[in-house]
Amino acid sequence: MSEKLRGNILVTGANRGIGLELVRQLAQSIGENAHIYACCREIEGPRAQALKNLSTPGKITLVKLDLSDEGSISSAVQAVSRNMEAGGLNLLINNAAINRPESPAPLSATGKQHMMDVYETNVVGPFLLVKMLLPLLQKAAEMDSEGDQMSCSRSAIVNISTLISSIEKCPESFHIAQMYPYRTSKAALNMLTRCHAEEFKRHNILVTAVHPGWVRTEMGGEKAPLTPEDSVAGMLSVMLSLSNKHSGMLLDWQGNTIPW
Ligand code: NDP
Repeated sequence: MSEKLRGNILVTGANRGIGLELVRQLAQSIGENAHIYACCREIEGPRAQALKNLSTPGKITLVKLDLSDEGSISSAVQAVSRNMEAGGLNLLINNAAINRPESPAPLSATGKQHMMDVYETNVVGPFLLVKMLLPLLQKAAEMDSEGDQMSCSRSAIVNISTLISSIEKCPESFHIAQMYPYRTSKAALNMLTRCHAEEFKRHNILVTAVHPGWVRTEMGGEKAPLTPEDSVAGMLSVMLSLSNKHSGMLLDWQGNTIPW
């Protein structure tokens, strides 16, 4: 990447999979004054070790965040606000998510608790996080004198969604992976993306949903064709290209539009 994302960037689910790779590539590519807030459920112990092993002195702050716990979200936002002092938040990447029960998650194996747990982490968590971070996103947008131009360097929310959230494309993917809780949660995240894009337009905050491709992680499984490296390189390049016309859309890691 020759262009750089800048300012303060917050990534959820940063200790493994796509989130870890996002932090790794961002740390290598962001400008000198940029800073990454890498959020994970456990910032001590083995689950955070890969994140701690990234050799990026001064560029990353680890933040404890459990998206299924409102108190944890509030504490994380307070910690981030204190750390940023006068600055705002330029880019929030809502990456963390769960998929329950195990894939393909047919109807017969899916119960109320799966639906509730997945909705809580994948939708309610990002909803509350955005609500609490809004003053910091607004501050970043106001600190920039770009008129009404929106971008991921100014102030933006990128929600990591999925191709299988697409209602139009459901007939193509349903029989391979039913995943009722996951699909419906991501469709709700898409609507959240659209609502936030409408509401935050007046603040010049861009809001876009991005599908990372089918990626080899714990969630994606070993058969997935894409590496986290390629997926994240693609998504970061898409993020750099986002402007007003992309707010409220669902794009894939190569910048193609996915129908809702
Ligand atoms: P992984 O399962 O590999 O990683 C998920 C991350 O989310 C982990 O860091 C995990 O932390 C975190 N997380 C889970 N629950 C919570 C919670 N309650 N609070 C905070 N963090 C939590 O998933 P991927 O990296 O593959 O997926 C990243 C994103 O990409 C997700 O939004 C997913 O839906 C999306 N996606 C992935 C695809 C793929 O093929 N991999 C395809 C399409 C979309 P912990 O280690 O503590 O569990």
